[in-house]
Amino acid sequence: MGKYSEKQLREIFDSGEGVCFYCGKKLVWSNYGKLGTRGAWEVAHVHAKSRGGADTLTNLAPSCIECNRKVQDRVSIYDNIRKYFKPSLWPVILIGGIITLIAIVIKRILNRFPTKF
Ligand SMILES: [Zn+2]
Repeated sequence: MGKYSEKQLREIFDSGEGVCFYCGKKLVWSNYGKLGTRGAWEVAHVHAKSRGGADTLTNLAPSCIECNRKVQDRVSIYDNIRKYFKPSLWPVILIGGIITLIAIVIKRILNRFPTKF
């Protein structure tokens, strides 16, 4: 059963009182990891693992698969934004934007004087 033992899963499920950590929906114990089934659930990290969250029981909670995936997506989007938009990149983005704008303006001015002979 994946990376958690039956005992660990039981503890996680019970510690969350069998409801989703995020939305409070009732979860079905036997539908662990069975996406699409009623009360399907998996283990959520209260503090995302990618941001230093521990793998200890206190940081783990049962969650709907849907809720958990949504949170994971949000976390990874946030991390990607941080990765690609480092503060050191802002001047580059800004200058790039200004150059693009100037190019558009110049193009428009040139288009006003069509070169027809
Ligand atoms: Zn949920």
